[in-house]
Amino acid sequence: MPLGQRDQQQLLRMTKAMWALLKAHLNLSDVQLHQMLVEIDTQTPQLTTCSMCRNPLQSTAQRCLFCGTVPQIEVSNSELQTRLSRIRLTEQ
Ligand SMILES: [Zn+2]
Repeated sequence: MPLGQRDQQQLLRMTKAMWALLKAHLNLSDVQLHQMLVEIDTQTPQLTTCSMCRNPLQSTAQRCLFCGTVPQIEVSNSELQTRLSRIRLTEQ
């Protein structure tokens, strides 16, 4: 069941509240939060779209389940490098 707009707002409020508490009580920084988000991104297969049939496709899929097209290598690796370098810059 998809989340309604009210549920999404409630989740956002709870996430903000939890982060504020964690940050204050565990002495964490926004940089550490961003690093964890990058780490999660690298572990979670992203949903993309097949370039041939436009059906949904996991970024880790070897072939499209619908038409068998072999997906092109994502540019997400360079995107990841860009994000990592931004984090390193903010740490200095
Ligand atoms: Zn396809």
